[in-house]
Amino acid sequence: MSSRNPGRKSDPLASVRIAAALKAAGQTQPGKPASKGGRKGPGVFARLAELYADMENAYAETAHAAGLTCANCDDNCCRTHFKHHTHVEWAYLWKGMLALPEARRADYLRRAREVVDQCAAAQAAGVVPRVMCPVNDDGLCGLYAHRLMICRMHGTRNVLLRPDGQRQVFRGCHRFCGLTDGQPDEAVPTLDRTHFYRRLAELEMEHGGAKGAGASRVSLTLAEMLVYGPPKPQRR
Ligand code: SF4
Repeated sequence: MSSRNPGRKSDPLASVRIAAALKAAGQTQPGKPASKGGRKGPGVFARLAELYADMENAYAETAHAAGLTCANCDDNCCRTHFKHHTHVEWAYLWKGMLALPEARRADYLRRAREVVDQCAAAQAAGVVPRVMCPVNDDGLCGLYAHRLMICRMHGTRNVLLRPDGQRQVFRGCHRFCGLTDGQPDEAVPTLDRTHFYRRLAELEMEHGGAKGAGASRVSLTLAEMLVYGPPKPQRR
């Protein structure tokens, strides 16, 4: 019995989408200018890069205030089974993939397939997967500039004011909690994700990935997003 995720692994169109995206990026047609913004033209990816930079700065400030660093962490969050992303992040991740030399891209895809299989096996055994990200090269991110939002924001305590008015609080990673345990709630450095999520939702709408709040979710891991290929164009 195969332990593979049939819904994602057997998509026969993945290689077609990769080839089409490569062509659109000009890699199979020397002399043609590369696409700058994906399906919706220039602008969305540039603003996503700005948003990512703003997220990183906010994260760095919060982490610094708490004394948090990732150095020598024994709980590498690049092993965490994150899902719930957006189409625009997925497309931008693939923009990074398409810019890689072919051999490296092929290696990441091979590793991504292995990760998908390992995660499926862990889940079949009733275990939460803890498998290293396929683009992590001995501790260095191979898609650093194009990595997902969660890669930039995981660690510190953060809050999110949801559209329904509910306030969600994430306590932070185990190291952050260790640094701040015992402090009064209002004294714990906290990153407010609300305005970042709002900007991301706007970019997702502009990119065409959202027909409504629920439709904007991409319930895939990073490895699955690589195996699946660039996201299919979304219909509005
Ligand atoms: S994309 Fe980079 S930062 Fe994100 S999980 Fe993978 S290796 Fe870690």
